[in-house]
Amino acid sequence: MKKMEEKILNEAAVLPGGVLKVGSFLNQQVDTKFMKEVGEEIARLYKDEGVTKILTIEASGIPIAIAAGFAMEVPVVYAKKNKSSNVSGDSYSTPVKSFTHGDTNNVIVTKEYLSKDDKILIVDDFLAHGSALTGLIDITKQAGASLAGCVAAIEKGFQMGGDKLRAKGYRIESLAIIDEMTDDEIVFREQ
Ligand code: 5GP
Repeated sequence: MKKMEEKILNEAAVLPGGVLKVGSFLNQQVDTKFMKEVGEEIARLYKDEGVTKILTIEASGIPIAIAAGFAMEVPVVYAKKNKSSNVSGDSYSTPVKSFTHGDTNNVIVTKEYLSKDDKILIVDDFLAHGSALTGLIDITKQAGASLAGCVAAIEKGFQMGGDKLRAKGYRIESLAIIDEMTDDEIVFREQ
């Protein structure tokens, strides 16, 4: 998505540790007009897949997932980060290693919100090492639901998570893929 690349070039900042700051349009402040276009692009990519539900992870996946949910007219479910290790029997749970904090939390989804009849589209803001998407794929499997694929607004290709998941046969679509980033330059993958 050309406009995602333009937004990154115009508004993002490269932070130490391979982190991209996109607080002005995707995290913290959300550019709603742009987010509407993002939702429509996601709906276009998966229009023939019979998606019944979108699954994301709190907190920063929620705006983009809601935009996709509006465009596809399907509900959005978000996995919650569970601070305690106690998981009750009415939830699906899986460990996800936080890219930004380095710690691992169980993320949980209440069982009643996903079923084996669902076809899930997983959506998140960033794809780095792939831990968040891998966790959401695991929850989809636990529910016995089928998976249409995944969408990341921004994939950092040099952190390899996207290509590892593609090698396992999953459909992973990213609206922009960054292959290299420094303070001076951001290089996008041709798609
Ligand atoms: P992964 O699990 O693929 O390693 O990392 C993806 C998760 O970490 C996303 O849910 C996102 O919230 C966060 N994340 C990863 N890289 C970045 C980044 O460069 N900037 C921001 N703002 N969040 C990131």
